Amino acid sequence: MPANDPHDSTSPSPLLTLGHPLLRQVAQPVDAVEDPSVQRLIDRLLLAVQAANGVGIAAPQIGQPVQVVVIASRPNLRYPRAPLMPPTVLVNPRLVAASEDTELGWEGCLSVPGWRGRVPRHRTVEVDYLDRHGRPHRQVWEGFVARIFQHEADHLVGKLFLDHVRSETDRLSETAYQAMEISSLGK
Ligand SMILES: [Zn+2]
Repeated sequence: MPANDPHDSTSPSPLLTLGHPLLRQVAQPVDAVEDPSVQRLIDRLLLAVQAANGVGIAAPQIGQPVQVVVIASRPNLRYPRAPLMPPTVLVNPRLVAASEDTELGWEGCLSVPGWRGRVPRHRTVEVDYLDRHGRPHRQVWEGFVARIFQHEADHLVGKLFLDHVRSETDRLSETAYQAMEISSLGK
């Protein structure tokens, strides 16, 4: 990580988009969570996910190939039905266990603007991670939040949700997806 961070902490970092090679790279574990450069990176991720109406973000998306993600499910313009949770920082996350049963659900990605895909994910996951103070946690998530975790964990191994789309009918433009969402609201 560069010693001189070119981004200040008040304006959202630019997001890399599909085609950028860093999105396909395997991210490295963080050695020292308390390092100021790691703390700045975490602040930038928290700012970027909120500014972009995301529900999660991974460090490679802002050009840092290290194992830090934020999961921040909340109802917003892009995900009106997302459950509300406090933004959670995960450093060096490890999948400990996952349910055998999977479910299909729609996802988007801040690095794949304009597209949504319906992909299978484990219904529940159990995850080990460090928080931003370096404290270890073990957490179980289910449903949409488990889905976000799996999406963000994919970013740390260079995968994108598009890689999991299995048929043409499971891929929609953002416009078509929003039209489908609006027509299904209230049903
Ligand atoms: Zn993503």
